[in-house]
Amino acid sequence: MTGITCLNLRFQLRVQEHYTMKFNTKTIHGGQQHDPAYGSIMPPIYQTSTYAQSTPGGHKGYEYSRTHNPTRHALENAIASIENGNFGLAFGSGLAAIDAILKLLKPGDEVISTNDLYGGTYRLFTKIFEDFGITFHFIGMNNASNIENYINAKTKLIWVETPTNPMMNIIDVKTTAQIASKHSILLAVDNTFATPYLQRPLDLGADIVMHSVTKYLGGHSDLVMGALVVKDKALANQLYFIQNASGAICGPQESFLAIRGIKTLHVRMQRHCENGKAIAEFLAQHPKIERVYWPGFETHPNHNIAKAQMDDFGGMVSFTTKGNNDKEAIKIVENLKVFTLAESLGGIESLAGHPASMTHASIPKEEREKTGVVDSLIRLSVGIEDIDDLISDLEHAIG
Ligand SMILES: *Cc1c(COP(=O)(O)O)cnc(C)c1O
Repeated sequence: MTGITCLNLRFQLRVQEHYTMKFNTKTIHGGQQHDPAYGSIMPPIYQTSTYAQSTPGGHKGYEYSRTHNPTRHALENAIASIENGNFGLAFGSGLAAIDAILKLLKPGDEVISTNDLYGGTYRLFTKIFEDFGITFHFIGMNNASNIENYINAKTKLIWVETPTNPMMNIIDVKTTAQIASKHSILLAVDNTFATPYLQRPLDLGADIVMHSVTKYLGGHSDLVMGALVVKDKALANQLYFIQNASGAICGPQESFLAIRGIKTLHVRMQRHCENGKAIAEFLAQHPKIERVYWPGFETHPNHNIAKAQMDDFGGMVSFTTKGNNDKEAIKIVENLKVFTLAESLGGIESLAGHPASMTHASIPKEEREKTGVVDSLIRLSVGIEDIDDLISDLEHAIG
């Protein structure tokens, strides 16, 4: 039995439980077991590259840590459990996880992708995989039926991010999954913004869920990591092959930190959502603010889809100041004291960013303005601090 088959069988012994546990229990126990050696409650950090064999091939399921490591394996099971999948794979970053999905494709294949998406994903698609002969169609998916206009015999993957970054567009995962399945195309969903606390794309029909674990799953701004979760065994084996063959894995220390993070995901997300709502509502009534982008508003163009596929609306809020210029926006982000001006999102601490000069600076102004990333746009990752402090910080900074 190869190492991978052996692990899959071991995993399947435990996988049954996650169909019955509630989400708030799964974050703590799902896919987890106490360490068989000494019963330690948390999985030990197996900081090792290799494993002793008694005879050639005589090992306990682990041969070499690129292929598998017990701490990473514990994390992969935990992520699979909270996403209601059967197989999890962890990578050195979110982009390494996306890179592994793209390696399922061959030159000549085509991908249909959300047009408002994480800048690093756009860069990976256009600057790396286009050179390998993959064609990408970046399209508006606010109306999912638009996708069908771009499908042909070469289409192999639909790439969806929802809510999108930073415009908080919502894409209908269920309808997109029906379209993908009708044409036998893989559907991958970047679930970084929502997390499985808010939406579970595999349950809605997606084939692959992707995470930048760096953000909410890790939750403490102390690691960089990516993950994939799938239900289908054949697809899992293809991805395990790529993970091992290309080698973009994460280490045991990060795996441990991510498990620790996931155990409080539900309590953190509950507070992120409460604080996000309070801040979106505060900004919406502020005379100096022009527009607030948050899927919880009834006026959000896809609010009904958000309500149907998400359990709450998350902690990401974007807004524009009146008069489209960057001076006012930059002054606000510089004046903030509780919010930190920084890239990234999803940690316990509140962060503010100015996409036009930070995350989206590499995109030409005309291009980014087409999707709404104007000079006066500010993106907030609302943390879990006391809401009164967050609101008075914004009040003071906006002036
Ligand atoms: C950060 C992020 C990524 C990339 O993940 P890294 O861990 O930074 O490589 C992908 N998608 C979204 C939505 C992100 O926010």
